[in-house]
Amino acid sequence: MHFAPSETPEIVYCRDERFRLMIPNETLQTRITEIGSAINEEYDGKNPIFIGLLNGSFIFMADLIRNVTIDCEMDFIKLSSYGAEKISSGQVTEKKGLDAKIAGRHVIVVEDIVDTGLSMRYILEQMAHHQPASVKVVTLLHKPDATRENVQLDWVGFSIENKFVLGYGLDYGQLGRNLAAIYVLDEVS
Ligand code: 5GP
Repeated sequence: MHFAPSETPEIVYCRDERFRLMIPNETLQTRITEIGSAINEEYDGKNPIFIGLLNGSFIFMADLIRNVTIDCEMDFIKLSSYGAEKISSGQVTEKKGLDAKIAGRHVIVVEDIVDTGLSMRYILEQMAHHQPASVKVVTLLHKPDATRENVQLDWVGFSIENKFVLGYGLDYGQLGRNLAAIYVLDEVS
C-alpha cells in the first residue's frame, strides 16, 4: 500500500486483500460539513461535549469538529476492537473510560461505523448512568442490514451495504486507517 498522500487510488491492497474506492474524501467532506452545520444550529449556546470512540472515529472526529464553530469540548472512549478479524466478535469491553464529567452536559457520541449496533448500545447504556442533559449520536457510516440492536442514530453520514470497509480511520488489522477515502472489500464472486 504505497501511494503519494495526494492520490486517491481506485484500488488498494491491505494485508493481501483487495479493496476498491467506495466514498472519496471530497464526498466525505461535503457530508461532514452538512452535519457540522446541523450541530452548530442545534447546539448554539449549549457547549456540547463530543465523545469519540477510539480508534476508528479519530479522523472523522477531527474533521467534524473543524466544521463546528460553536463552543464545544471533546473526550474519547476506547472499546474492544475487531482485532484482525473482519466480523464482529459480538463482545464489547471497555479499554479506556471517560475522563470528562458529563452529568448535566449535552453529549454527542461520535462513531465511525455502526455495524451490529452492540458497541453503540453499550456506550448509550454507559452514558445514561452519568445522567447527561441529552445524548445524541453521529456516525459516519451505518450498515442497516447488519444492525441487530435498536439504537438511536441522530445523524448518519452514509448508509452502506453490509460489506467490510477500510480507510479514513477504519482499519483492517490496524492497517489502512491512514487512507483518505473509504474503501470496500472487493470480494471475488
Ligand atoms: P458494532 O458493535 O456496531 O458491531 O461494531 C462497531 C465497531 O466495529 C466499529 O466502531 C468499528 O470499529 C468496527 N467495524 C464494524 N464494521 C466495520 C467495517 O466494515 N470495517 C472496519 N474496519 N471496522 C468495522
